[in-house]
Amino acid sequence: MLAPEVEARPWDEQLALDDESYRAQLVYLFERSSFYREKLLDAGVSSAAAAGGLAEAAELPLTDKGELKATATAESPFGAHFAADPSEILRVYSTSGTTGIPTYVPLTEGDLENWVTGSARSYAASGVPAGRLIVSTYNAGPFVAGAALAAFERIGLVHVPIGTGNTERLLRAIELLRPDAVVLTPSYAAHLVERAPERGLDLRESSVERVLVAGEPGGGEPAFRAALEEGWGARVTEAMGIGDIGPSLWGECEQQDGMHLGARGFVHAELIDPATGRALELEDGAGGELVLTHLRHRAAPLLRFRTRDHVQVRTGPCECGRTGPRVRCVGRTDDMLIVRGVNVFPSAVREVVSAFSPDVSGHVLVRPRSSGVKQEPPLPVAVELGRGRGDDPLLAQAIRERIRAVLVVQTQVELVPWGSLQRSEYKSKLVER
Ligand SMILES: [Zn+2]
Repeated sequence: MLAPEVEARPWDEQLALDDESYRAQLVYLFERSSFYREKLLDAGVSSAAAAGGLAEAAELPLTDKGELKATATAESPFGAHFAADPSEILRVYSTSGTTGIPTYVPLTEGDLENWVTGSARSYAASGVPAGRLIVSTYNAGPFVAGAALAAFERIGLVHVPIGTGNTERLLRAIELLRPDAVVLTPSYAAHLVERAPERGLDLRESSVERVLVAGEPGGGEPAFRAALEEGWGARVTEAMGIGDIGPSLWGECEQQDGMHLGARGFVHAELIDPATGRALELEDGAGGELVLTHLRHRAAPLLRFRTRDHVQVRTGPCECGRTGPRVRCVGRTDDMLIVRGVNVFPSAVREVVSAFSPDVSGHVLVRPRSSGVKQEPPLPVAVELGRGRGDDPLLAQAIRERIRAVLVVQTQVELVPWGSLQRSEYKSKLVER
């Protein structure tokens, strides 16, 4: 642990400290954030004191990404939740977004420092010790993930930034520099398992002992993870952040049983039912949408921000000694489909299908028949065959039955030839819209 006195602190003590930070943050929001002053007054909360503490947070309104975007104007490009003096801003990131219009994320020096501290704890949880060599594939460009790069130096790792979009350069670095660890998206990690043999490289024989995945859900799903670990001959752990709140807020330890909150003390986590917005208890086995609140953020702090990440919670003790709830991300609520009343995440479909490897490649594409969330069964799913495998009606039937047994959803499985579904060097598209 980078900071055992923090990371192993009893969780009730952490919550008591967080409650103090939260109350101070509310005072700051009322003073400095026109967005939250207005939003809270509209909700009948007259002052920071009236808002209460963390125990009462669920009574405050949620914040949606769309609301923030709507307040960004030519005069105020950061949006109405910008709360600092322009002279305090040290850096401005953009979120990649899916709509093509970037939103800006300004940071003060203290905000950036907290981001790096939290990211460093999250990535250090993976167990890569100081002094080892790590190859990263994020770009230190406009996007928030770039801020996580400083975390590797903070841990004391020898950092080799390779960046995105150059597989040949990455594989050569793995061969020549012999890194102990690599950090990439799970899709890209899977892609490299396929590509490396084409140039005579067996990743299982490489020096890489740790594969750190982040950027999209899936790295924690048992069958998908097992396939990555087999292909790399390495231990796979995942990390997760969200652009507007911070990079790599969560990081998994060597126990591989969900991600710890590396950003503890900076961020408070809640769970809600995504359909109703109602708060859910953050208890063992609970599932729902993750909602995050900045506790000591200055430039553009957010209160009860809906992440659209659907997570499952574990609260049992972890052998690593870190305290607090752990999460595993099941999928993005935006990707979720409802098939005759049953919630289906495409990443969960991929997880079930991955168990049929090596008969299948692990690539799937859900092809909803109609637009919108609600779908009539059977849900069409293209499943890519493994390398050298031919069409096999019995296999399709077995996959269909397994999906029905595990996810309680009727599908229409179409087996497609190896190599026919699109690979990604960044994030995979699992639904065809
Ligand atoms: Zn742990």
